[in-house]
Amino acid sequence: MTVTKGSCHCGQTEWEVDTDVKLVHVFCHCGACKKLSGGEYTLNVIVPKSACTVTKGELKVYTYKGDSGNDTDCYYCPNCTTHAWHHQKVQADNYIVRTGLLEGAENFEVAAEVYGKDRWSFQPQVAAHSFDTVPPS
Ligand SMILES: [Zn+2]
Ligand SMILES: [Zn+2]
Repeated sequence: MTVTKGSCHCGQTEWEVDTDVKLVHVFCHCGACKKLSGGEYTLNVIVPKSACTVTKGELKVYTYKGDSGNDTDCYYCPNCTTHAWHHQKVQADNYIVRTGLLEGAENFEVAAEVYGKDRWSFQPQVAAHSFDTVPPS
């Protein structure tokens, strides 16, 4: 297992991802990611929930209804609002971790893009694979 540390902007919260899952960036161009980040996409990877531990401070939870109509819980620093990871009820045992906040993120591979249908025109496709919404399961 490899431990990778993550942290928020203000330093009040820190976390660790302890997993053998290869940490890669999946671009998400969905509307919720645009609003929550203020940018054109977010960078994420799906890891088992059990791999994620808060090591400093406490994350708060913001809940919204995702595309599926199910709740998505966003875990964020209560001081600076950086989002550490998201939890979808449809993927009960996993977290969607924001990879851009992890140490070494600048060297992670770009694995895929999701919600490519919502990619803004000025943003080129970066990954070899882009899905209109999510990959077929
Ligand atoms: Zn913070
Ligand atoms: Zn998204």
